Amino acid sequence: MAFDSRRYTECVPALTFNEARATVLRELTREAALPPLETVALELAAGRILAQDAPADRDFPPFHRSMRDGFAVRAADLPGTLRLTTEIRAGQRSEAALNAGEAIEIMTGAPVPPGADAVVMVEHCMREGDWVRIGGAVEQGANIAPRGSEAREGDAPLVRGSRLDYPGIAWLAANGLGSVPVFARPRVAIVSTGDEIVEIAETPEPHQIRNSNLWSIASQVTRAGGAAVRCPIARDTKEHTRVVIEQSLDCDMLLLSGGVSAGKYDVVESVLADLGAEFFFDRVLIQPGAPLVFGRVRGRFFFGLPGNPVSGMVTFEIFARAALQILSGATETPLPFTLARLASAFRHKPGLTRFLPARIDQCEVAPLKWSGSGDIASLCRANAYLVAEPDHPDYAPGDLIQVLPL
Ligand code: AMP
Ligand code: MG
Repeated sequence: MAFDSRRYTECVPALTFNEARATVLRELTREAALPPLETVALELAAGRILAQDAPADRDFPPFHRSMRDGFAVRAADLPGTLRLTTEIRAGQRSEAALNAGEAIEIMTGAPVPPGADAVVMVEHCMREGDWVRIGGAVEQGANIAPRGSEAREGDAPLVRGSRLDYPGIAWLAANGLGSVPVFARPRVAIVSTGDEIVEIAETPEPHQIRNSNLWSIASQVTRAGGAAVRCPIARDTKEHTRVVIEQSLDCDMLLLSGGVSAGKYDVVESVLADLGAEFFFDRVLIQPGAPLVFGRVRGRFFFGLPGNPVSGMVTFEIFARAALQILSGATETPLPFTLARLASAFRHKPGLTRFLPARIDQCEVAPLKWSGSGDIASLCRANAYLVAEPDHPDYAPGDLIQVLPL
């Protein structure tokens, strides 16, 4: 293949989406060291990566728990009329036991008394004074969650490397943990490049562009579990870009925005090469985001994200996010693709994997109007990307298509 003099991975042709993603995962898994630990209060733990297994501190449930309001019985006594002896409420320590021919009124969440092997829902019983008539049979174990049936003491459904979300928070709380050990957030430097870029507090001249990428990428970094470090804008000269990149090298990962295409003033790759960078790829067969660069410089992984805002956001989500998750100590880096039916047709460019702004509702997805890689407004209206496959011809209404929720 003929290669461009501004490309640095001269022996690596443009990679497909799957090849590029596999490269990122392979390099990060091979090289990433685990971050240090810190302890956070449970209320601040959502989104963090758990640094130790969280074993059950007792059986779940801790006693044979009634799952219904009703009557505790012996299955063998039914159908029949049973003598009501007492009641057991949730939160009540009960010493009562059940004998043949008896029933005990019981509430949801209360411990099932010894001798009982089923609970019949109150709706299925007729109470007459001290007696209860139950017309149907019941299976042994009905409406009882046996002690330890969800987890045994010492079992760890939530392991080191899990990203804490509300189910994990529930588990930690259920085990009485008011603070938890998590991995420290990796520090991620964000360097925007471009002579036309101004900070958002400034009033741009008509030919200038506000530095929106700093803000979108920083929010993506935060959401993915990193600590965003905002660097000054690098101007489109090798000298200035080098100074800004060198100053960002104390971070754990570098995200550079812009300056990675084939333009005369796209100097990012050559500056990184001067700094001794190793490049794993610098072109991917995707749209938007084809000029994406991935490599390592002075022991730090970096991504050169394309400057076009949508390209930068998409390539962060599909590549840099996984890298950051691995650097954060996460053991899983899923891309939650799902399938949906297309609500309308659209023209495809075979050869590329395309990530197009779309709206998904239930199982149906519709592409949105977008004017290309700079169209932030279109992405604001979207709640998902349509993922058009490289070997697929044009798409028709009703076709099944992959979708990546935003
Ligand atoms: P580049 O990748 O540097 O060629 O930039 C591609 C397009 O993205 C140009 O139209 C830039 O003005 C725009 N762009 C580059 N950097 C940023 C940024 N930090 N924020 C918003 N737009 C940007
Ligand atoms: Mg530029």
